[in-house]
Formats: sequence, C-alpha cells, structure tokens
Amino acid sequence: MTHPTLPGHPHIAYQGDTLCIENVRVDDLAATYGTPLFVYSQAAMQDALAAYQRGFAGRKLHICYAMKANSSLAILQFFAEQGCGFDIVSGGELERVLAAGGDAGKVIFSGVGKTRAEMLQALQAGILCFNVESEAELEELSAVATAVGHIAPVSIRINPNVDPKTHPYISTGLKGNKFGIAHERTLAVYQRAASLPGLQVVGIDFHIGSQITETTPYLDATDRLLDLIEEIEAAGIPIHHIDFGGGLGINYNGDTPPAADTLWAQLLAKIDARGFGNRQFVIEPGRSLVGNAGLCVTQVLYLKPGETKNFCIVDAAMNDLPRPTMYQAFHAIAPLQVRAEPAQTYDVVGPICESGDWIGRDRSLAVQAGDRLAVLSTGAYCMSMASNYNTRGRAAEVLVNGAQADLIRSRETAADTFRGETLRARTAA
Ligand SMILES: *Cc1c(COP(=O)(O)O)cnc(C)c1O
Repeated sequence: MTHPTLPGHPHIAYQGDTLCIENVRVDDLAATYGTPLFVYSQAAMQDALAAYQRGFAGRKLHICYAMKANSSLAILQFFAEQGCGFDIVSGGELERVLAAGGDAGKVIFSGVGKTRAEMLQALQAGILCFNVESEAELEELSAVATAVGHIAPVSIRINPNVDPKTHPYISTGLKGNKFGIAHERTLAVYQRAASLPGLQVVGIDFHIGSQITETTPYLDATDRLLDLIEEIEAAGIPIHHIDFGGGLGINYNGDTPPAADTLWAQLLAKIDARGFGNRQFVIEPGRSLVGNAGLCVTQVLYLKPGETKNFCIVDAAMNDLPRPTMYQAFHAIAPLQVRAEPAQTYDVVGPICESGDWIGRDRSLAVQAGDRLAVLSTGAYCMSMASNYNTRGRAAEVLVNGAQADLIRSRETAADTFRGETLRARTAA
C-alpha cells in the first residue's frame, strides 16, 4: 500500500497507517475534541523560525511575526516566548499581543487605514514603529501624537514597483496597488515626515506580496530600497532600521520557495556589498512561520456519487477554510487512516449553501462516510479568516509539542455566535 507523502511537512507524517503530528495521533485528537479541528505543530513553527534566525546569524534583527496569518493567543505566546515581536494591522491585534504576554515595544503597526483611535491606542502602548502608508496618514499621526504629547516613531512603506511580468506572484508591491508610497515620492515624503512635530523617522519598509516563491523580486526590491536609503540619508535624515516585510511562500502543491536561510544569505550578500550589512534589520514573516505547521481535521459526512462528479461532503467548510473559495487555493487532503481499497475521484465540499463552498477539487481518495481527513497547510490564513457564516461556530484548536497536546481554543457554540445581539423591546400596540 502506498501512503500519501506529505512534502513540506516534516512534523506531520504517517506512522504505519495513521497520520501523526509530532508524536500524537491526529485521530485521537479528533476523537477527543471533535471536528473540524485545527492542529498545529510547535516543532514546525520552531523550525521555520530557526531558518530565519540562521539566515541572520550575527546580525541585528527584529523578527516581527505578521500575526494576521494566525492570531490565536497561544500561537502568539509561543512567538513572544521565542523573543519575537509582532507586525499588527489593527488595534484589536495589539490587544491580542498584550493578552498573549507580548511586548508592545516590539510591535510594528502596518496597514493603509489606521484610525485615530488605533493610533492613540498604539502610542499609549508604546509600540516600536508605525509603518505609514500615505502622506495623509503621516499628517494625521503627527496630529494625534502632538495632541497627547507623544512622538510617534515612523517608517514609511515604499512601493518598489517590481516588474509584474517577471514576478507574477507579487501582489502588493506594484504601482496599481493601494499599498505604500511611490518610490519617486519617497524623498519628499521623508522630508515632510522629518518636519512634522509629532513624528520621529526611524525606518523604511516594504512588503511586496505574499506566497512569493522566487528570490528575484526580493533582490530587485532590496536594490530599490537601498537606493532610496542613500538618497534619504544624503538629505540628512538618518534611517535607523530597514524592514523587508514578509511574503515568503510555502509549499502547498509542489511549490518550491527558497528556504528562509537561503533567501537571506543571498539578500544579505547584496546588502553587505552595498555597505548596509551592520544596520538594524526588521522582517515581518507570517505564512512562512505557521502555514505548514497546521492541519485541519474534518470528518466525511456523506459520499454523493454523481453523473459528472462524485462529492465527498465533509464537516469543515468555507467558513473554516476560506482560502480555496477566496483565492482558488490548493490544500492537500490526506486521510487520517490509510484504507486499502482503491481510490476514487471526489470534489471535497462543505455543508454551506454556496457552490463556492469547496475545499478540494478532483481529489483521489479512498474514503468512506465517517472517515476523517486532514486538510494540510492550514496554519496560516485559515483560522484567522474564519467566520460564522451559516451560524457555524468556529473550530477548536490544539497545539502539539512532542507527545503533549493542549487545547488552545474551545469550539464556539451557537450561543457564542449570537452573543452581543439583542431582540427589540416589545412595544404595546
Ligand atoms: C500580510 C503582511 C505580512 C505577512 O505576509 P506573509 O505573506 O504572511 O509573510 C507582512 N507585512 C505586511 C505589511 C503584511 O500586510
């Protein structure tokens, strides 16, 4: 019998016919906690983080985990304990960092639409840096800071306009995107920032996209960034830290992104050659730290043979796993217990009343109703994007470390999903 292989998942593998995550049988977790269930490997997160740490060995580096990839408290707690800071995109994420025991002084605040209230909250918490995305935001931030007698540390996000034809994976570092400041405007915007009373310029940043699987876009964007630093510093504005964003891809379906240490060896060679090697660096990886550390267990409810398609209807859905319907994303699907009988081709779909509610198409599976399946590479941008559509409570989550498995989020009940809603008072006729 051939067991499905799970490339890119060193801590998720079959032992005999049974899928294990580290030293825990996934089926045992599903039996205990029910399905759908997210399960994460701490060792996989540790390995992913270690690759970045190796890549930057001997350098001054802040790793700010981009927590929108997976913002569950115990995941944040793990990264905080490893010394990481956080890249946040909302005031709510800042509250999560603090609730998880993270250090506000290691937080950078990204995003194109920060509100005044969020600016104030972050200033009062004492974050490391605001990554500012527009000239209007600079003015607003200075005004908010001045009003409360604070100075806001700022970096300006540069849009390096890396050529899309050669780098099709880039989605946020192009001229037509809403992100960052056109690199032609950079010096003028830095001069404005330096002149505003409520701001202190501390850095420069870019983030060119997500699920990037090539090195060239980073190399090109880095060249642009270093050119700009030379220009800004020649104008008398020192740049203390250089933030290269996140975006490194993972292996979902035979993708071959560079390893983090390989990527950074190449980038640092360029950075060294240009004389910037001893600067303070910041990186904001999200997906590459958690994506392949997680799986989602789902149970087969029904098999529904059809004329043109066979459907495998499971208890996880687009509210738990939004990436297939949002991005036509591929997630490998593997049985928890390998069966001897021949496989058939199925579309794996959820119970939600939408044709977009699919998890995998044309998958070869040997399954029966009641079997459990693992949807792989679901550590990033799944739970953090989950919704309550169809009044489905969000899934439970377990974090595995060796032979230990801790429930880190209990399953939401229906009552949880309508907490905060109110019926109107009855009015007399
Ligand atoms: C989303 C995001 C990241 C993380 O991206 P990944 O592809 O998950 O590594 C980093 N920085 C910013 C500004 C982001 O918006």
